[in-house]
Amino acid sequence: MRKRPLPSLRSMAGVLAVAAMAVASTVTVGAGTSQAATCNGYVGLTFDDGPSNDHTPALLNALKQNGLRATMFNEGQFAASYPAQVKAQVDAGMWVGNHSYTHPHLTQQSQAQMDSEISRTQQAIANAGGGTPKLFRPPYGETNSTLKSVEAKYGLTEIIWDVDSQDWNGASVDAIVQANSRLTNGQVILMHEWPANTLAAIPRIAQNLASRGLCAGMISPSTGRAVAPDGGGTGGGNGGGTGGGNGGGCTATLSAGQQWSDRYNLNVSVTGSSNWTVTMNVPSPEKIIATWNITANYPSSQQLVAKPNGNGNNWGVTLQTNGTWTWPTVSCTAS
Ligand SMILES: [Zn+2]
Repeated sequence: MRKRPLPSLRSMAGVLAVAAMAVASTVTVGAGTSQAATCNGYVGLTFDDGPSNDHTPALLNALKQNGLRATMFNEGQFAASYPAQVKAQVDAGMWVGNHSYTHPHLTQQSQAQMDSEISRTQQAIANAGGGTPKLFRPPYGETNSTLKSVEAKYGLTEIIWDVDSQDWNGASVDAIVQANSRLTNGQVILMHEWPANTLAAIPRIAQNLASRGLCAGMISPSTGRAVAPDGGGTGGGNGGGTGGGNGGGCTATLSAGQQWSDRYNLNVSVTGSSNWTVTMNVPSPEKIIATWNITANYPSSQQLVAKPNGNGNNWGVTLQTNGTWTWPTVSCTAS
């Protein structure tokens, strides 16, 4: 997302898109993650829309001074313009992800345009010394199956967010700190590199996380969840982090599908096994009213147990909201 001044209406479109995406988040559940002794858990801090000469140096200083590491979702056009700032991100211990080249609404583009946005950014970040990204955040959190297929072509894991700090929307320092205080182990928060309030919030974010025994971690390319850093400073290039291994298990990842006034689709992608069982717990009063590509069993009205039905590892559900848009939780076991 972005809200920096633009020569177009994209900024306003972003605000509207985000309002419509209020339920969007990515939830993955895998097997246990490794943790250092001093950390009871890890969260993924993310900063989008950089790099820049105006904001990147101050943000990196603040993060370093407060002992925080983060994932920077860079736009390719800015990585190409400010390659030294990409290098500075890596040198400061940050991970670098792909946030498209020009920040368009990718779901309104052709597959060829999506491919160009992603591939040119991979190249620009690599050329700047940022490694070849393994993580991709679509602008505005907008995604679809065509985009996912392009991401897969480049070995990218799509990362949306669990918590939106609303920093792009004028959130106060207090509100940004408060949003970070809602993070739990493994979760990812959306922030941006350009709001002054975000920069000002960094010391208190660090304080809050420390008080709760949480550490700032890397986002695992295999699970999309925040895990212990693997010691590397780049977002990828080494074929999957060692921090989030799933020990022969499987991972179920949720992503937003179509939505209507009273219901929405969730896509579920299972990795790590083709012989899996995914348990989905649905928050009341929401109800599952349809499924596809699975054999479905319902041990209770709020629980779905899904198994493969020969149609692969991508399936989904339609949820009737009954007024609540909170996503279900999922867990995956391989047999
Ligand atoms: Zn953005």
